[in-house]
Amino acid sequence: MSSETRRRAIEAITNYSVPEEDFSSEPLGSLFGKNVFTKAVMAARLPKTVYKSMLATIEHGAVLDPTIADVVASAMKDWAIENGASHYAHVFYPLTGLTAEKHDSFLEPDGSGASFAEFAGKTLIQGEPDASSFPNGGLRGTFEARGYTGWDVTSPAYILENPNGNTLCIPTVFVSWTGEALDKKAPILRSQQALNLHAKRVLALFGHTDIDTVVSYAGAEQEYFLVDRNFYFARPDLMSTGRTLFGAPSPKGQEFDDHYFGAIPERVLAFMIDVDRELFKQGIPAKTRHNEVAPGQFEIAPVFERANLAHDHQQLMMTTLRRVAEKYGMECLLHEKPFAGINGSGKHVNFSLGNSSQGNLLNPGDTPHDNMQFLFFCTAVIRAVDVSQGLLRMSIAHAGNDHRLGANEAPPAILSVFLGDMLTEIFDQVEGGGAKSTKAGGFLDIGVAALPKLPRDAGDRNRTSPFAFTGNKFEFRAVGSTQNVALPGTCLNVAVAESLDALATELEAKLAKGEALEAAVAALLRKTIKAHKRIIFNGNGYSNEWQKEAAKRGLLNMKNTVDAMPEIIKPSVIKAFEKFKVLTEAELHARFEINLETYCKTINIEAQLMVLMANRYILPAAFEYVKQVGQSVAAAKAAGVPSKEGKKVLTQLVKLTDAFGAQTERLAAALEHSSPSSEKHAKYMRDSIVPSMVKLRDLGDQIEVLVPHEVWPLPTYREMLFVK
Ligand code: ADP
Ligand code: MG
Repeated sequence: MSSETRRRAIEAITNYSVPEEDFSSEPLGSLFGKNVFTKAVMAARLPKTVYKSMLATIEHGAVLDPTIADVVASAMKDWAIENGASHYAHVFYPLTGLTAEKHDSFLEPDGSGASFAEFAGKTLIQGEPDASSFPNGGLRGTFEARGYTGWDVTSPAYILENPNGNTLCIPTVFVSWTGEALDKKAPILRSQQALNLHAKRVLALFGHTDIDTVVSYAGAEQEYFLVDRNFYFARPDLMSTGRTLFGAPSPKGQEFDDHYFGAIPERVLAFMIDVDRELFKQGIPAKTRHNEVAPGQFEIAPVFERANLAHDHQQLMMTTLRRVAEKYGMECLLHEKPFAGINGSGKHVNFSLGNSSQGNLLNPGDTPHDNMQFLFFCTAVIRAVDVSQGLLRMSIAHAGNDHRLGANEAPPAILSVFLGDMLTEIFDQVEGGGAKSTKAGGFLDIGVAALPKLPRDAGDRNRTSPFAFTGNKFEFRAVGSTQNVALPGTCLNVAVAESLDALATELEAKLAKGEALEAAVAALLRKTIKAHKRIIFNGNGYSNEWQKEAAKRGLLNMKNTVDAMPEIIKPSVIKAFEKFKVLTEAELHARFEINLETYCKTINIEAQLMVLMANRYILPAAFEYVKQVGQSVAAAKAAGVPSKEGKKVLTQLVKLTDAFGAQTERLAAALEHSSPSSEKHAKYMRDSIVPSMVKLRDLGDQIEVLVPHEVWPLPTYREMLFVK
């Protein structure tokens, strides 16, 4: 009987006991950075001048001195071998969005039958993986399939443990032989430089003389689901696409919100403790963990870091979550929408910018001068979100996130900025041209007549906003849970750099005319807020009214990936990316192509799998039940008591099954299609395949609720979400 798999899965889960680990010899506190080639390790192992030179590159973006590479490589190799490493790998982040590694052995034969450990500076600095199998969007013909990995000094090397041997991992960028970025990492590094340049200009205008390199910081809160592996392996859709392509809703879903912040189940807690330890070893500061809204859904948030490093750590965190979940008999689902009708998963990317000399530039300060500066940077971000709405929307667009953004789910596809009532009031006053607020207590002194006082605490929150100010940072909430955070991070950096550049240019002109700084800033902020306040929205982002209101305000509302993707090749975007030397027109076009191809491939795999599941699982179950009911109806008739109810069920079942079979054929036929361009094909997938999949799923789910428990072959929503 086909429900046997399900029965066995439940039996296995009931008998499961959490593996007990004795972590007492190595408490969490002693683990941090254990497997990382940290600054402390470098300080201890490198000659002073070499260490200093490394620091200058890591902390202040100084050009790497290639003559030190041999010394660093040798120290790194010794450290790695002492820590059990036999191999090293250049780790890079190709445009697939995944992490790639090429492993090489330290050991080289010395010709006499023995071997010696070899790792030269040039091997540290550059690698050459076979690049032909990574997407390049036309940047490079396969006949010249050279791609190089280049050591990213800003991201520390680390050791990846495996029971059978450890590997030294070296984070790298991945570029073509002509220097075009074939990866996600190079652009984010380049965008940090652009942001630094223009933020520094602004700080100089505010009278600072000692200004350290400005970087953007990112803290990415990761949502995910956990399901038992016994169920996972019985669901081809979860295995191959990360989401359920069929599945009738469970009678009890998340109606009571009873999972949110509830007690964490034992097995899950054991998993979380283990995850924290693994992350700590890699120097990833995991901080909070809790249940999320949906049953089986959880969240983990690391402490924020420089955006380029946070990116690498995010990738490593996703891998770690999946790896450790296996150890506890579970699968970690990172997909944006593993279960229809149940909340999806996102990744809130918290964004701020700052440096060691002026601190967090989005932090309201203690002096009037600081607060004026804070309002300036805050305004620059608000302006950036308005000017670059399309670009930011594009940066989070992919097939998985289409189930959230623009569907009936949080957050909306329209970008807007939530400021909270207090800050909104302040910006209203800035726009109005004077400080009228006299509310006592809890306010920061700005000391400038033209600028209002600031509240000390941003206070309120809004869960429906895609981009919210939360006290001393902005939270980009619309990022998808599977996403590599490099593209959103890069686009944010470029958008904010563009904004700072424009505002700094205006301010410089005013100051050149002899205007006083305070008056000039006040006038500039007033003008900027007037021009861009349409992007500020504090209301309910899920409501229909907002859709209408946003349209009235002229805000973009791109409901899917195909609509959003052309934003990456818009003239204004190309101009900004080229001006800031982040990506060339050709590199942007490559990403446009690859993102659309990825969209098409994703939908294609899902649709093919639906056809397969229809034929191998759902139709056979439906026919089996048709047979059972048919026999029962025939038996009743033969006995002289025709069954009315049986006939009704049989009729309904046959009708549904026929419709389902016909729809399966239609979908299969529709997949036989080719288009002259990726964009045309993506449109075809969106307009013809996706609706056809929706129809097929609807029919399949209707069959599921008719077919008896013993006949149904696929683990159900109720089982996957609630049996733990
Ligand atoms: P919330 O539930 O309010 O979103 P969490 O504590 O779950 O808060 O997550 C907040 C995230 O924001 C963490 O990853 C944290 O490190 C990050 N964060 C805090 N301050 C900053 C900052 N200045 N810049 C960037 N990220 C920050
Ligand atoms: Mg958050």
